[in-house]
Amino acid sequence: MGVEVGLVKHIISLGAGVQSSTMALMAAHGEITPMPDCAIFADTGAEPRKVYEWLDWLEKQLPYPVHRVMHQDGLENSVERSVSGGRFAGPPFFTESDGLRTGQLRRYCTSEFKILPITQKVRQLIGLSKGQRGPKSIAACMWQGISLDEIQRARISVEGWQQFRYPLIEKRMTRQQCLQWMQDRGYPKPSKSACVWCPYHDDAAWRDQKMNDPESWAESLAMDKLIRNGVRGTNQKLYLHRSLKPLDEVDFRNATDMGQADMFAEECEGMCGM
Ligand code: SF4
Repeated sequence: MGVEVGLVKHIISLGAGVQSSTMALMAAHGEITPMPDCAIFADTGAEPRKVYEWLDWLEKQLPYPVHRVMHQDGLENSVERSVSGGRFAGPPFFTESDGLRTGQLRRYCTSEFKILPITQKVRQLIGLSKGQRGPKSIAACMWQGISLDEIQRARISVEGWQQFRYPLIEKRMTRQQCLQWMQDRGYPKPSKSACVWCPYHDDAAWRDQKMNDPESWAESLAMDKLIRNGVRGTNQKLYLHRSLKPLDEVDFRNATDMGQADMFAEECEGMCGM
């Protein structure tokens, strides 16, 4: 990628899901070079317990530090404040747009609670003070954990002093190959990293949470109820699920629950071609 080693900090943007965890461990094994200076995990404060437990474990496997950063006091507190009139910087909750179609609020959470705290930390690591303009040459190479099957998510940094690198795409690795790499080395399987009550969950994720993670499910039900009468900027009813039903009224049963064989076992990623 043409980034000079030594002059530039190599930093992993660690989401703590399958891809970024695999990338971090591959670097630790010397399979991706150079050795990163550090990793940064942007904590929304709303990840499920198993993600924090995974991160605790992962940190111990890595020969470089992991910085955990959080914007203000986290996303959940921010949403709570917006219900009682505070500024809204939250997720794209579902809303009834005209009585017929489902709309969505604008998504602010990723930029405010993921990208912003990471950028602030990187600026600090390369020695920039608040408001100081970045250098004209590249000072930070940010490794992003995007696999070949989601290449459309890759983008170019808008900051001239920062370059994005995609080591898994360089190695042409898919998410499934990341899981295989982990398994081949005897590592445990990482879980998906996302806020407990992210409106982007598909029904399989909601079903899994309802069946296997009662603590997170209770948090999701509480959030779904909290936002029902709107947040600052809208008095429309808001929902976590696109059906515009309260979460505990949505039928998440799948083919297996209905007594039929599940042809699409987990991790088929919807691309089995059938
Ligand atoms: S996981 Fe969902 S709710 Fe959390 S920051 Fe990302 S888009 Fe927002």
